[in-house]
Amino acid sequence: MSTLNELIPGQKAIIEQVGGEGALRQHLLDMGVLPGAEMTLVKYAPMGDPIEYLIHGYELTLRKADAERIIVSGIAQRDNEAPGEAGEIPKHNSASDPRKKAHHHPGLGEEGKYHPKGSGNPLPAGETLTFALMGNQNSGKTTLFNQLTGSNQHVGNFPGVTVDRKDGMIRNNPGTSVTDLPGIYSMSPYSAEELVSRDFVLNEKPKAIINIVDVTNIERNLYLTMQMLELGIPMVVALNMMDEMLGNGGIVDVNEMEDMLGVPVVPISASKNEGVDELISHAIHIAKYQECPLRQDFCDADDHGGAVHRCLHGVSHLIEDHAAKAGLPLRFAVCKLVDGDERITAALDLDANELEMVEHIILQMEKERGLDRSAAIADMRYSYIYKVVERCVTKPAESKERAKSQKLDGVLTGRFSAIPVFIGIMGLIFFLTFALIGPFFQDLLDKGISALGDHVARLMEAGHVNATLQSLVTDGLFEGVGGVLSFLPIIIIMFFFLSILEDSGYIARVAFVMDKLLRKIGLSGRSIVPMLLGFGCTVPAVMATRTLPSARDRKMTILLTPFMSCTAKLPIYGFLVSAFFPGKGWLIITGLYLLGIINGILVSLFYKKTIFKGEAVPFIMELPNYRIPTARNVLMLLWEKAKDFLQRAFSVILIATIVVWFLRSFDFHLDLVKDEGQSILAYIAGILVPVMKPAGLGDWKIITSLVCGFMAKESVVSTMEVLFAPEGISGAINSLTAASLLVFSLLYTPCVAAIAAIKREMGRKWAVCIVLWQCFVAWGAAVIVQLIGMLFG
Ligand code: GDP
Ligand code: MG
Repeated sequence: MSTLNELIPGQKAIIEQVGGEGALRQHLLDMGVLPGAEMTLVKYAPMGDPIEYLIHGYELTLRKADAERIIVSGIAQRDNEAPGEAGEIPKHNSASDPRKKAHHHPGLGEEGKYHPKGSGNPLPAGETLTFALMGNQNSGKTTLFNQLTGSNQHVGNFPGVTVDRKDGMIRNNPGTSVTDLPGIYSMSPYSAEELVSRDFVLNEKPKAIINIVDVTNIERNLYLTMQMLELGIPMVVALNMMDEMLGNGGIVDVNEMEDMLGVPVVPISASKNEGVDELISHAIHIAKYQECPLRQDFCDADDHGGAVHRCLHGVSHLIEDHAAKAGLPLRFAVCKLVDGDERITAALDLDANELEMVEHIILQMEKERGLDRSAAIADMRYSYIYKVVERCVTKPAESKERAKSQKLDGVLTGRFSAIPVFIGIMGLIFFLTFALIGPFFQDLLDKGISALGDHVARLMEAGHVNATLQSLVTDGLFEGVGGVLSFLPIIIIMFFFLSILEDSGYIARVAFVMDKLLRKIGLSGRSIVPMLLGFGCTVPAVMATRTLPSARDRKMTILLTPFMSCTAKLPIYGFLVSAFFPGKGWLIITGLYLLGIINGILVSLFYKKTIFKGEAVPFIMELPNYRIPTARNVLMLLWEKAKDFLQRAFSVILIATIVVWFLRSFDFHLDLVKDEGQSILAYIAGILVPVMKPAGLGDWKIITSLVCGFMAKESVVSTMEVLFAPEGISGAINSLTAASLLVFSLLYTPCVAAIAAIKREMGRKWAVCIVLWQCFVAWGAAVIVQLIGMLFG
């Protein structure tokens, strides 16, 4: 017996057994890694782990440890046939016509005839037609959603979880609403996001489902389709990426496929906006007339002796009334019960006797079929999919897109080129964002805001507005909110590049390449991008953690990003270095960046041992073909991010700005102060003096500057310039204090914009904790600097 990880690149083998247990194993089965399927080892990641495989014509990555649990046989060299072709699909018994077999199935309305259009059971007029948009990741869901809704969309959150929820009206169709759900591979939830999708269809009961299927990757995509058919909710299948399929000479017999699946199938190309109107008309029709799928039952009495078929129908009779009581679709409940889904089993509320009977039937089936329950059910669905594909799909002999992807991957995930190319790309993005394009727009915006500020100030002066109000508007609003607003261009530009990398399929590769490294600190490869963005600006970095599949990884990544030194801290470094360490600036700034990284590593090791015990999520990820992102998608995303940021700028940040303005402008008699030394802020800073003394920062002027840095890191410098005038800072403190100050500035609390982003992702409690925690870490590090300084004089 060999295991999957023993293959060498280019070798293929047939899967005999899939080891492991629970959700992970179920996920593997759902992705098509099941007994009888053929898998080819494509390549190792540059650091030797994870491994890329080819299965059912798509690329899947697995960690070595997971591959070790998959037993294979029949190892052979991969034949020269182009990858992903029909040759890789195990041939199943296709002589039987599934439609004829339908008659052997009791109940469940699979008589094989369509509801003629226009009848069915129409919904009362005026009822909103709600649609769920469901599909695999990378199937083109976002693209289709943008086509369906145009600009009529709004983003919210699913209650209780930080998963984006996008709703929108289908263009030109008032009274409709479509919800974009997180991409899922099956109805067995694997990540928190997937749970959201499944619960949405089960609990919110949309009137119909629009199921988007990537036709170039049809076997795996149809798996979800099969599961959703079981729900008995009206559904239309959108066969996406038809442009690629046809361009390569492939053919799909759509009518035949409609026949076999029992739902309307509409070929479309979401990115080219082809077929979308037809899709809309079908979707609205099935929703309005509540036309349910005509088949839910895809097991076959001829498949492997019919064991699975008998088992499912036996159980079906047993639990029929329980399913009805629990409000669950029968066929769905049966399949879930048989494959051992705990949530559904509990929901069915069977008594001990019934459970025993069910168990007995399942054991009998496992024995006859020679597969365990989960594998048997997955196999039942894939068997039918193979039949559908064999009858309805003529795959192209060669896919240009795949060939192109493989060429690109030769470089982008190549053993020696992957990491240098990655560094190059990130470097270029940083350079463009922070050196070339960003400052230009930032400057422009800054100038605009201060011009507006001056104008308003003049108007107020002329109108003899109360002095306090004047100060609030000019020093508070325009300085504070205006300063934060100037981040907007950088955030937009960064997201522009990021969304292109994401939509094109490159981010998945980066995760694949970097996974091994990040696993050492308890994270998975996907955390690399947010962490790198942290060097630019914490705000987009925190926002980018949305793409991480597990809540644990997401939280841990968010807690780490602020330790990466953001660009707003550069002015502080520059200011102090030129005053105290002239000529050594380059060295010291590089050192600070390294210190940030080392600190991040130490902190994450600490997290891993304490609050975030356990492993990062297993790395079962698809590497989609590279595709060119559509301008529409990118623009929609930018608009969304900008709106999100602006909303925050005018809520949390506005309030924080006013508070800081108040503290530094007033004394305890609520009189406007002339000298900031008299302000409440200076008083508070005075209280902090004993605390900050061991860190060498026991000077109220420094403390005040640091508190102002809470608004935006740039204001540390501007405040110090004001407070230490006229003799300048170099006369006021020594270089040891400057060193402490540098380290403290590197590590202490993120700015208010970042905190607002963190609060949004993780809640208020975490946001407060992170501020205190980082101040503590920074304080500790500054104390260490003092100690070292004293030791060496
Ligand atoms: P999602 O992950 O399901 O939301 O997929 P996206 O909508 O982000 O699409 C993934 C990629 O496929 C993007 O680069 C799209 O531009 C591309 N894409 C989407 N639909 C089509 C299509 O019909 N044809 C082609 N050639 N590419 C498409
Ligand atoms: Mg998407």
